Amino acid sequence: MSFDQKILDRLSRIVGPGQVITEPERLEEISWDALSAGRMHPLKRPGVSNPLCVVLPLSTAEVREIVLLANEERLPIIPYGGGSGLMGGALSVRPGIVLDLRRMNKILAVDKESCSATVQAGTVLESLEKRLNEEGFILGHDPWTLPVATIGGAISTNSLGYRGGIYGSMGEQVLGLEAVLPNGEVLRTRSVPKSSAGINLKFLLIGGEGCFGIITEATVRIFPAPEKRALHAILFESFEQGYGAIQRIFRQGLRPAVVDFGDGGDEFRGGAVLYLAFEGNQETVAAEEKIALSICDRDGGRRLPQEEAERFWRDRHIIARRFMQNRRQRRERGSDGIYRDWIHVALPGSKVLSFRKAAIEIIERRGVHLQESGLWIQPELFSMRLGIEDEGDDKAQLVLEETVDELLRLVQSMGGSMEYTHGVGVKLAHHMEKEHGYGLEVMRQIKKVLDPNNIMNPGKMGF
Ligand SMILES: Cc1cc2nc3c(=O)[nH]c(=O)nc-3n(C[C@H](O)[C@H](O)[C@H](O)COP(=O)(O)OP(=O)(O)OC[C@H]3O[C@@H](n4cnc5c(N)ncnc54)[C@H](O)[C@@H]3O)c2cc1C
Repeated sequence: MSFDQKILDRLSRIVGPGQVITEPERLEEISWDALSAGRMHPLKRPGVSNPLCVVLPLSTAEVREIVLLANEERLPIIPYGGGSGLMGGALSVRPGIVLDLRRMNKILAVDKESCSATVQAGTVLESLEKRLNEEGFILGHDPWTLPVATIGGAISTNSLGYRGGIYGSMGEQVLGLEAVLPNGEVLRTRSVPKSSAGINLKFLLIGGEGCFGIITEATVRIFPAPEKRALHAILFESFEQGYGAIQRIFRQGLRPAVVDFGDGGDEFRGGAVLYLAFEGNQETVAAEEKIALSICDRDGGRRLPQEEAERFWRDRHIIARRFMQNRRQRRERGSDGIYRDWIHVALPGSKVLSFRKAAIEIIERRGVHLQESGLWIQPELFSMRLGIEDEGDDKAQLVLEETVDELLRLVQSMGGSMEYTHGVGVKLAHHMEKEHGYGLEVMRQIKKVLDPNNIMNPGKMGF
């Protein structure tokens, strides 16, 4: 019997018949996530190969046994949730075992008194949201990919959603979690909102992209469904004008649930649109809305028809549904002849406008088009979407990639962080040294102690 067959037999004994998949088409599909091929030049992209198999465990005990087997046989394990990660965190860069967690999708408890829910890590965000809605609660975390992303994937990338302004990032919602560490030990952290009893080890897993262990369960904060949502679309003459208004809103101590601001829409040529929402009880929302709108009026904002705000809110998950219908598209070069990439960076508020100005100079000098610049959730979280025409060879793609790299290095030199929401994966791994300095060595040493055989999602985040 071949080595591979022996492994497959042992895995089948752990998870049961039918839960170890080896069909080549399925392996090929799961070897990739949502990183578009056009965002990484072929020369820079790590080789991706089909995994040995996909395994679908049902319990923490099964995950533990799989990890022990992988360690014994020195086989990589790649945790896989919804596969919607944009940085290649779930790519199979070394053939191994893809651990597809989507059968671990039980909602174990909804504790309305404590405002928390305990779920298995493969639970899709939208299914938890629907269950909570039936009980008069919401999850709070509401990314574009609500219908596809899992709790485990969202925690592992410390994902941010539309309503992050009041509910926080996915990581901030985690009260406690359970994870299988690379050596097979099960780590459980206490599900409390605050503790000062030593270092909270949940932070090994929050944003850990599966490199420090596999999250199997999490207890997350949930919120009573808001009594009211006030939603507005406001047009400003320029990015700077809108930025000033948003800063003033925050300086007043207001905390909008949604801030989605950008200058790229063709229909508002030259201007920048702010989608702004407050959520909560009637009286508080009415007061917040009044103050925020008067700031926007004073700063030259012009209110767009209410239908525009409603359309924005209604359509916010459409792109994820499209992604689910055609995942394959991400592996192929864009058919419209344009390479696209973006940056999502965090900067001190005082530096956002100067960074934007310097970035535009770099982008123009390199012959790249700026399609949009914007803010999400708070004034310090800044993004740019870039595009360049495909000239039929790979040169344009390389120019785009080098432009992104230059922008990220500039952010880091200005004291900012290169990414605020999608993680590092393989796409940004080469910037980790500058991002963390000696901190990267600390992370590597921690990883070495926990995962001496480097089986846990190798090749990601600079490990
Ligand atoms: C169209 C589109 C829109 C998007 N919009 C947003 C957005 O609004 N906000 C945002 O933050 N992101 C967004 N993303 C990115 C993506 O949806 C998020 O990163 C999401 O949190 C990933 O969840 P997932 O379950 O799909 O994880 P996956 O892609 O399966 O995995 C992501 C990483 O986590 C690891 N992992 C997965 N499960 C576990 C586990 N149980 N334990 C340990 N490690 C694990 C994987 O190995 C990988 O490194 C978008 C992506 C697309 C394609």
